[in-house]
Amino acid sequence: MGRGRGMGGPPQGLGREGGAPTKCVCPQCGYEATKERGTPCRSMKCPKCGVQLVGA
Ligand SMILES: [Zn+2]
Repeated sequence: MGRGRGMGGPPQGLGREGGAPTKCVCPQCGYEATKERGTPCRSMKCPKCGVQLVGA
């Protein structure tokens, strides 16, 4: 039984820069749409469900 030397985990920090969503998704079916700058996801609707998309 060896003792682990302490695993050197990868540095934390997922490539999330800015914080603004890069795409809009349908909360119901998962449809994804490209986020347009200046256009909030809420103003877009899923073509399948007709519900407002949310930022992701
Ligand atoms: Zn949908």
